[in-house]
Amino acid sequence: MKKLTRRDFSKISAMGIATFGAQVEETTGASLNKATLTSIVSRPVNLPVAKGHRVVVVGGGWSGLTIAKYLKIYGPELDVVLVERNSMFVSHPISGLWLAGLVNLDAITFSYLDAAVNNNYLYLQATLIDLDRTSRTIFTDQGRLNYDDLILAPGIDYDYSSLGVEDQAQEQLLKTSFPAGFISASEHISIKRKVENFKGGIFALNAPAGIYRCSASPYERACLIASVFKRKKIKGKVVLVDPREQPAVSAEGFLSAFEELYGDIVEYMSSSVISGVNPESRSLSTDFDEIIFDDAAIYPRIRGAYLLEQLGLADPNSAQMEAAIDPFTYNAVGDANLYITGDCRPMPFSKSGNTARTEGKYLAKLVAARAQGKETSWKSPQTICYSMVNTQPNQAIMVDGKYQFNRASNQWEHFDNYALNKRNESMASKTFDWFEENLQDMFY
Ligand SMILES: Cc1cc2nc3c(=O)[nH]c(=O)nc-3n(C[C@H](O)[C@H](O)[C@H](O)COP(=O)(O)OP(=O)(O)OC[C@H]3O[C@@H](n4cnc5c(N)ncnc54)[C@H](O)[C@@H]3O)c2cc1C
Repeated sequence: MKKLTRRDFSKISAMGIATFGAQVEETTGASLNKATLTSIVSRPVNLPVAKGHRVVVVGGGWSGLTIAKYLKIYGPELDVVLVERNSMFVSHPISGLWLAGLVNLDAITFSYLDAAVNNNYLYLQATLIDLDRTSRTIFTDQGRLNYDDLILAPGIDYDYSSLGVEDQAQEQLLKTSFPAGFISASEHISIKRKVENFKGGIFALNAPAGIYRCSASPYERACLIASVFKRKKIKGKVVLVDPREQPAVSAEGFLSAFEELYGDIVEYMSSSVISGVNPESRSLSTDFDEIIFDDAAIYPRIRGAYLLEQLGLADPNSAQMEAAIDPFTYNAVGDANLYITGDCRPMPFSKSGNTARTEGKYLAKLVAARAQGKETSWKSPQTICYSMVNTQPNQAIMVDGKYQFNRASNQWEHFDNYALNKRNESMASKTFDWFEENLQDMFY
């Protein structure tokens, strides 16, 4: 492993320091000078010295947690560090069921300490700020850390300009007053409070254009919020705006649930592109309509985490600013020791937890094999998505599928697809089993 010399501190980019400075100012109100900021990020982090080949995984979501665990399974000799900015994990999958009161917050909240202790790796609560690929060093708000291999799994960010919102004050108001609920736990908590306090009128939701996080979830969320209104006899309507002609996934199952279970509660507006949202007047416009809402969770188009762009690792030709990587090895272009994966991947796979975990297991196997001087063959990720569409009684639908690359057309294709659109109680109980199995595996 290369040692960082004094001169290498100059490799911390001005952009990295500026971003860190802005974060410090936002959280503490203090404005620190460049020399102070540089000294914070360039001191060594408080971790034991690496015992062998060190693999650093940044991002403790469904992807990073799986990779950290499986690196130790496929390469017990590896020294693995998981770097995550949050102090605890709140799951996105099943958060909709919590929204509808089917599970407690406890059921979706987990400790990074447990994950690290039970799976024999180190956890560092820190935010990645910058990267020097020559000396193989990451710079975080807790200091610097050397790696032999680095895996980035930082997830996604929102692109509010996709909703016609360019003004920063409007964007901030929209983000905080009508959060999308697809990135942070605070967003989920705000949406739950909104649903619990809703007195009646229109609750607006939307599915964004492009490939967005969890194709089924805007439709599942519409069903779950409608089920709360139905149970509490609230005179409310869930208006779901979608640019597509029909739901992006499980169309038959969702459309029949809308019609048969929530005929007077869910209004599904297909082929409707949002051209503007005004959080002050609580209105959103499409090409044909203006919808005045009483409350909402507005979901902008998503993009790969800004971090990648800041580090020069995003593909500028990708429509959603996703990572510039080899799609089979996940190597950042031209870098044998840097891998990027999870929802920020550019391949058109479903941006879902099951996909991120199966992909993560393959990548952990590949990185461990390479550290042992071997290779391993590519394996398709698997997308499995259960959607709870009814809560009286609990009934779910599901899809399952894999991917293959067609070299003749130069396109990714689905294969081994299976869908169950007829909602039933057995699928509902499998939804809980699927979640339990995955979370047990990541944390215990
Ligand atoms: C409401 C909802 C319901 C869903 N339902 C399902 C479902 O039923 N089934 C399913 O399979 N999928 C579902 N998903 C999708 C699933 O949650 C995502 O696909 C999955 O979380 C992607 O994993 P990831 O690790 O790539 O990203 P994330 O889970 O977002 O993890 C990224 C991590 O990186 C960390 N990070 C980012 N930047 C930094 C930095 N600079 N320094 C340190 N850490 C950083 C973040 O804090 C975060 O913990 C759902 C998503 C939502 C929002």
